[in-house]
Amino acid sequence: MKLHELTITQAHKLLKKNEISARELTRATLEHVGSIEGKIGAYITLLEDMAMTQAESADQAIAKGNCHPLTGIPIAVKDLICIKGQKTTCASRILENFISPYDATVIKNLKRAGAVFIGKTNMDEFAMGSSTENSSHKLTHNPWNPDRIPGGSSGGSAAAVGADMCISALGSDTGGSIRQPASHCGVVGMKPTYGRVSRFGLVAFASSLDQIGPITKDVMDCALMMNVISGYDKSDSTSVPEDVPDYTAALKNNIKGMIVGIPVEYHSVKGLDPEVSAAVNSAVKLIESLGAECIEVSLPNTEYVVATYYVIAPSEASSNLARYDGVKYGFRDGEKQNLLDMYCGTRSKGFGPEVQRRIIIGTYCLSSGYYDAYYGKASQVRTLIMEDFKKAFETCDVIFAPVAPTPAFKVGENIDDPLTMYLSDIFTLSANLAGIPGMSVPCGFSSEGMPIGLQVLGPHFAEEKLLNIAYAFEQATDFHKQRPEL
Ligand code: GLN
Repeated sequence: MKLHELTITQAHKLLKKNEISARELTRATLEHVGSIEGKIGAYITLLEDMAMTQAESADQAIAKGNCHPLTGIPIAVKDLICIKGQKTTCASRILENFISPYDATVIKNLKRAGAVFIGKTNMDEFAMGSSTENSSHKLTHNPWNPDRIPGGSSGGSAAAVGADMCISALGSDTGGSIRQPASHCGVVGMKPTYGRVSRFGLVAFASSLDQIGPITKDVMDCALMMNVISGYDKSDSTSVPEDVPDYTAALKNNIKGMIVGIPVEYHSVKGLDPEVSAAVNSAVKLIESLGAECIEVSLPNTEYVVATYYVIAPSEASSNLARYDGVKYGFRDGEKQNLLDMYCGTRSKGFGPEVQRRIIIGTYCLSSGYYDAYYGKASQVRTLIMEDFKKAFETCDVIFAPVAPTPAFKVGENIDDPLTMYLSDIFTLSANLAGIPGMSVPCGFSSEGMPIGLQVLGPHFAEEKLLNIAYAFEQATDFHKQRPEL
């Protein structure tokens, strides 16, 4: 096995025994990135110099006997999470030269653990999208087939993990942006409970929905990343002061007696690909054979999920993105003479079409006279969606569902059809609206060889249950071990 192909767990063992150095591991990963970045397009910025310096410090720490599981591990970071002194572009022209003045809390935590940052990954502009085609920077291609999208908005991070261009990555998930690209690239992704991981230093899209989470090669690595990034942070007023368990201890590979709910409404979702449905059904059968009991549950408000999200997320986005006015941050349209023209010029040249579309929808939904009919109503429906889950989790431990209705679609296939693109988020949006954790684990391949993910959802702070059942599933299958031919 080549060094860049290792998981965190495997690399850690070798680092600890001094069989490899962090410098070798980082160099091998950077060389592999150099050889296939032209084909995949996973990164916006490569941080070679910083990575090598961090790898050297990691080697020194290891020599002193300080080898945390993440010490010396090459990690990629979605380009909306701040690393001090480095660019954070959000794949937007408006921030193309913005340098972060501080570290996000997750970055501070990872630095403390000795991780190495390889680069900042491509994404949909301001995390708005499901295909990474909304990046102002470039396209990212799916490692399993370059004609297909990698998913989005954390498409760069998922493609980087899927193509072994880093050992693990950070993404953010506002409506599925960790789970869906993980599913499309055949890797593991987790959106933690809202408040589990600090959002300090994450550029805001929709603040009541955003969460940072890991994208990894397997479930054990996901647990290792969660151990480091989770926890209360006084800099984020929405972070929750709950103790962080050792998530690796939850991977017991024993799920006897666990109850898995299957939402009846999900069978009748229009556009659900029969191959996705078949892969999820086989996962249900397998999990039963491992000792879990599967029952039907109902999430009656499923049909309102997309409409609710696409009122709430753009509303919050329109407010969060008001700060990019050409005065305080990044790009400014300098040709304009007066203030109003400068604002208009900056925002119409600085933001891409999807971001502008969301700002217009959000501003409309929040405007006086329409607020109650749209934002107010959507907030009420959001409560009903939360209650659906609360009720369902009275009878089951976790819920199994598809991640996306289809495997990764072709580059360009949906780009001119925002509504079809929005509808493809049907299975992932509800976890963000309800604030519950969700993850994606590889559960099959389509007849065209594209990966399919299984989504596992659980009650608030039930990450351990999710990881345990996902681990049991992974131990009984080998989908996660298959790698694309590059
Ligand atoms: N695809 C969804 C959207 O476009 C979710 C994006 C996300 O999770 N950041 O808003």
